[in-house]
Amino acid sequence: MHFQTKNTMRIMNGAALARKIRSVLTIEIEFCKNKYGRSPKLSVILVGNDPASMTYVKSKGKACNEIGIESDLHFLPFSTSQDELLALIRQLNEDDSVDGILVQLPVPKHIDKNVILSAIDYHKDVDGLHPMNVGLLNTAGDCIIPCTPKGILSLLKSEGIEIAGKHAVVIGRSNLVGKPMAQLMLRENASVTVCHSKTRDLPYLTRQGEILIVAIGCPNLINADMIKPGAVVVDVGINSVDNKLVGDVYNSIDVSSIEKKAAAITPVPGGVGPMTIASLLENTFEIYKRRMKVAL
Ligand code: NAD
Repeated sequence: MHFQTKNTMRIMNGAALARKIRSVLTIEIEFCKNKYGRSPKLSVILVGNDPASMTYVKSKGKACNEIGIESDLHFLPFSTSQDELLALIRQLNEDDSVDGILVQLPVPKHIDKNVILSAIDYHKDVDGLHPMNVGLLNTAGDCIIPCTPKGILSLLKSEGIEIAGKHAVVIGRSNLVGKPMAQLMLRENASVTVCHSKTRDLPYLTRQGEILIVAIGCPNLINADMIKPGAVVVDVGINSVDNKLVGDVYNSIDVSSIEKKAAAITPVPGGVGPMTIASLLENTFEIYKRRMKVAL
């Protein structure tokens, strides 16, 4: 009854936390640059000219430059062969001035994504997608954590959301979001259910989630009836509907019913997106600090 009548839902402001993270990083990076004589550097590679990927790469470069990280953007034509891409990656692996290397996904079909991700020096693998980093995450080792799950965890913690002992339901099992998110929740001592496109009774499982993390890429798949009253909902999905950016959960159709159900939610835009970029900046600086043997 309480949840049907009272709107108490909190919006988890990822944009505000990301701003705080960026201002701390700006000060630390300036300090390191003065002390060690060089800035951190992120190299980003894009093959082809997919407009969304082009926007992502440019915004990553801009975010770096705003806080004193050097960015080095490589725009390669769609016709680039796998061997040519591998040659560039080898060159960046060996370049001492480069800390982080990121290949923007998806790559064209004639290039094997797994071969490319494995070719990046795993110490410079700022996206945490190299098999070594994936394995280390699964064995609770010291590794580079993929930016989106890392950003979500930081946001939940900064919002004071208790994770240990909770039932976290993660929808999606990609290496980029779903799987590492589930691992991070396990590391935080949540009980975890992972759902995906073959899951039979999705509403039954989502209704168990005290923390519900939705990373599908399909608007309107999750509605208010599928949310446990009082749940914390993380809406990772990015979809364009009528030229408007919406998530998988919190969109114009179902807003008021969701507001009556969830205790807290991430908005789209302004939730997970800015935290992903902030985590990319953090990862780049962490790699720099390891390589320069900096202790701050
Ligand atoms: P993906 O396509 O690799 O994975 C989607 C997952 O959804 C799959 O594991 C699939 O099994 C699952 N799925 C699909 N249909 C389903 C269904 N009917 N029921 C249950 N599960 C279903 O995508 P991804 O890279 O993991 O990204 C997911 C979404 O998150 C996308 O919208 C992407 O744009 C967004 N994303 C946002 C950010 C951000 O910074 N905000 C970062 C990364 C990804």
